[in-house]
Amino acid sequence: MRIRVVEICRLDLVLLNALRTSVGEHGRRPVLIIRIITDEAEGFGECSALGEPTYTEEYSDAAEAVLIDHLIPRLMRNSSDDLPVERRISSLDAVRGHPMAKAAIEMALLDAELRAREISLASYLGATQSNIPAGANISIGTPDEVIAAVAQTMVAGYQRIKCKIAPGHDLEVVRALREVYPKVVLSLDANGAYDYDNPEHRFILRALDGFDLTAIEQPLAPDDLLGHARLAKDLETAILLDESVTTLGMLRVAIALGACDGISVKPARVGGILIAAKMHELCVDAGLHLAIGGMLETGIGRAAALAVGALPGFDLPGDLGGSERYFSPDLTLPHELRNGQLIVPSGLGIGVIPLENVIASARVRNRLFQAS
Ligand code: MG
Repeated sequence: MRIRVVEICRLDLVLLNALRTSVGEHGRRPVLIIRIITDEAEGFGECSALGEPTYTEEYSDAAEAVLIDHLIPRLMRNSSDDLPVERRISSLDAVRGHPMAKAAIEMALLDAELRAREISLASYLGATQSNIPAGANISIGTPDEVIAAVAQTMVAGYQRIKCKIAPGHDLEVVRALREVYPKVVLSLDANGAYDYDNPEHRFILRALDGFDLTAIEQPLAPDDLLGHARLAKDLETAILLDESVTTLGMLRVAIALGACDGISVKPARVGGILIAAKMHELCVDAGLHLAIGGMLETGIGRAAALAVGALPGFDLPGDLGGSERYFSPDLTLPHELRNGQLIVPSGLGIGVIPLENVIASARVRNRLFQAS
């Protein structure tokens, strides 16, 4: 496959439901779309970096700059050589970090490559499920606000709920929620808001253990793997790591320390689909649970995440929802909820095609890189 053109497109979208977490509120949704035209096919990738560097260090303005100034120029150096995707991606290793920017290029390359080979991403990865249970993320709020939001998502057909929590918005909320919905499949996500050395925080986390939760995700700071290892011993509830697991190396450390019972895999956050698939393998070998996570993606990134989430080791409720919770219109035909499930795209490549008119109406700017 030879690269002819790479286009980076900056879009400004607005989320239908702003998401409030322990690190802030995400309402505006800048998105970077990468289009790669090769001599055989065309592919699309999405960079999921958020507008602010609060969930991770990476954020959209920085991702755009690193793509334009460092990653795409490296990709174009051997654009006219006939190289496999893995070789092209490894040429980006010289740039440290920026996993979401790299993941966008990888997705577009894989999409083009698999379209040329006429197979779907799901079958290329070895996915075993044609649909996966959808999950809904519920913002931090008062007990009444959270119960109302959960009621709304259950009416829409969601059967798996993940509530964001933070100190001051935890025990009381979960207790109230369990009174109304004693049986709902419920997990919590603190986005690193608790401190193991704070006795009040430890008390709350231990008290949450009694509410029949599927998992508590990222209770402590991303770099506190030792704290997570201690907490995992204290609690019956499964501890999932999300922000802590930035690379395969960090996952190996987390496993060696016993810092978690499982991980939430977000292909974009870990640097791409292929790394996410390797993490899946490592976790299955180590007997760890897996949940597929979302990054408030458009239909493009969500399609790729659905394919990864259809791998056989994903045994915990994920948090991918239907398009109707995120964007109207979405950048692709909507991912629709059917009986609480989302269909894993089976078309060629990532299985969805962006809607040009929707992209055009949300476009702020674009840059073209032509092969010489
Ligand atoms: Mg999370």
